[in-house]
Parts: sequence; structure tokens; C-alpha cells
Amino acid sequence: MLTCKKTYTDIPFAHRQHSHDGHCAFIHGHNWSISLTFACTETDENGFVIDFGKLEFIKSWISVHLDHACVFNTDDPQREALVNAAESCWKPYVVDNCSCEGLAQHLFELFNAMIQERTDKRVSIVEVEIREDSKNSASYLAE
Ligand SMILES: [Zn+2]
Repeated sequence: MLTCKKTYTDIPFAHRQHSHDGHCAFIHGHNWSISLTFACTETDENGFVIDFGKLEFIKSWISVHLDHACVFNTDDPQREALVNAAESCWKPYVVDNCSCEGLAQHLFELFNAMIQERTDKRVSIVEVEIREDSKNSASYLAE
């Protein structure tokens, strides 16, 4: 298996883990990084696992959905009240779990499906690593 890794850095967005018993329950932001590890057994005609120049759709997806967003959990009881109180102040994005781990799994499922579709399943994503800052990160590894 061959792999290559692409990292998207300095993506500002907020999140809140409403059921946490500490400060993670407060809305707060990080300058996130997302690293995607791609894998294949046969390279393309250029010898690449994947052509980094053809990943604009991922950068675009991140820009549309996460850049300057606030990520909420699906079951956050305050989400609708917060967003409805001042809709123009929010770019909400909703996931099952907005922890680093939950985001890594969510983005794995999303981006892996996109990559497999665009490469006729020649390429898969085998790891998504999310960094919320220089100290804390989590990864989702393909099973
Ligand atoms: Zn956080």
C-alpha cells in the first residue's frame, strides 16, 4: 500500500460540547488543522496516490461548511435557541459529536466517500487527523 498525506491548516471554527462537565461546554474556537492520509495499491498515470492539484473540492467543502462556522452536536438542547436568536451571527454546522474524535470520524466518512467516488475506488482515505491546537488532536483510522 502506498500513502500520501494532505494537510489543511489554520481553519478557524468554534464548537461546543454541551454535555461536558468542564469548559468545553462553552462555545469556543480553535484554529484547526485537518490531515487526510490517502492510500492505494496502484498509482495514477503520474505515479501519484492522488494528485494534490485535484483536491480543490475538499478545500472548497471545508471553506463552505467549516471556515468561521460553529459546530454543534445534533442533540445540543440549546442549538436552535442560540441560532434562532440571531441567525445572521451564526454559520452552524451540525454533527453527531463535535469532539475532535467525532469530527475526525465525520470527516472520514464524508471525504472517503467523495474520494472513492472520484477515483472509482482506486483511492481510499485511511486516516483523518484533526488538530484543534498545537497540543490536542485525534484521529479516525479506517477499519
Ligand atoms: Zn474545543
